[in-house]
Amino acid sequence: MHPRIVIVGAGFAGLETALSLKSLMKRAADITVIDRNDHQSFLPSIHEVISGKVRPDQIEIALPPLLDAARIAFVQDEVHEIDTSRRKVHTALAALPFDYLVIACGAAVRFYGVPGAREFAYAFRTPEQADRIGSEVRALIEDPRRPVRILIAGGGLEGIEIAGELLDLVSEAGQAEALESRALSIELIEAAARLLPGCSERVQDFVEEYLAGRGVQLLKGSAITEVRKDALLLASGETREMSMLIWTGGIQPPEWIRNLSLARHPDGWLQVTDRLHSPDDDHIYAIGDVISFTSPEHPQTLPREAHYALDQARVSALNICYDARGYRKIGYHPPTKPQAISLGKAMGVLASDTFFSNGPWVVRLKKLVEKRHMLMYRARPYLSTLTDAVPGAEFRHLLRLLMPI
Ligand SMILES: Cc1cc2nc3c(=O)[nH]c(=O)nc-3n(C[C@H](O)[C@H](O)[C@H](O)COP(=O)(O)OP(=O)(O)OC[C@H]3O[C@@H](n4cnc5c(N)ncnc54)[C@H](O)[C@@H]3O)c2cc1C
Repeated sequence: MHPRIVIVGAGFAGLETALSLKSLMKRAADITVIDRNDHQSFLPSIHEVISGKVRPDQIEIALPPLLDAARIAFVQDEVHEIDTSRRKVHTALAALPFDYLVIACGAAVRFYGVPGAREFAYAFRTPEQADRIGSEVRALIEDPRRPVRILIAGGGLEGIEIAGELLDLVSEAGQAEALESRALSIELIEAAARLLPGCSERVQDFVEEYLAGRGVQLLKGSAITEVRKDALLLASGETREMSMLIWTGGIQPPEWIRNLSLARHPDGWLQVTDRLHSPDDDHIYAIGDVISFTSPEHPQTLPREAHYALDQARVSALNICYDARGYRKIGYHPPTKPQAISLGKAMGVLASDTFFSNGPWVVRLKKLVEKRHMLMYRARPYLSTLTDAVPGAEFRHLLRLLMPI
């Protein structure tokens, strides 16, 4: 019997695992992908939905036609439990048995238990939620006579990219003067002493200077202790009035992951070996944002970024294929990659520990990466139809090898 491989989540990690497995194992595996949504969202561009530069549907990839063309089963459902001993994934509607499992369900928003944050702050993990934030901001700044105070909680990557988008939105709405006169304010609140904790000082200096120079007020070393409908409280005892609060405070593992009988790090993220399976079960893999990956070469947790999720997907697919065929699995050795950060349409930063560059070209580079991703995955069903129509199994195989995915 072919191994039954179930993949939970069709984000960057899950979808790439499914497609890689299919091209490696062809019909020698029954692959099923489960996702609560019927589309994948290109999350690195989600902040541009807020400013209205992209519409949600422009960064969404429909899963049913893509997986159908690749002959991979798709179940649109919510996973809420995995019975690791009986080897079953439980969704709201069914229990799916597996021989190999790949957990690729990403991360959830973290509110740090701050009272009122979940009720009153705008958090987002989907393009639709980002779109709603954009509409709220536009509605707020429509009336120039009313003072508007937009607060952003969190000065990490998401927070600063949103600040950049809000600056673009404000200037495109013709409200740049209101920002200068302080009738409209954008404030970025970060608990740590610097923005972008974890980045090099050079990146921190540049980003702080750039945002402050464009009128964003930076409140560093200020932890939020409570959120109310129209104000928030800081650890210093200070109260900040607000028109709206956009929450980018951080991420945490989804709640149901904490109930799994699989090894986890103290902060709840799943633990994996360098082969990317659980140390407790070599048929259960976990990849992408839901894991905390460390290794002798990477003693610090690997950043949770899309390109690492894609690499992990390819390694886990290869290891499942090797294991099913009785070969030795390979280790995952992530290369250090530079981080691309956008600060609105006019400025971006590309940086690693040893490299730093900035300019509008970084924003264009990020856009190119998005376009390539969308094109490759969206074109796949049509490319499959084309190659299926070509006579001759070898020739069809050759054509598929030449395809980008
Ligand atoms: C605002 C923002 C900006 C970012 N910018 C960048 C960037 O510039 N560069 C970069 O490299 N990375 C960036 N990232 C990070 C990047 O998007 C993630 O690292 C990447 O999405 C992780 O892939 P994943 O497959 O692990 O998770 P995801 O892409 O989040 O996919 C998880 C999938 O699992 C599904 N799912 C979750 N739980 C369940 C369940 N219980 N049942 C069924 N389905 C479920 C979800 O619907 C989703 O489709 C950004 C992220 C955000 C939020």
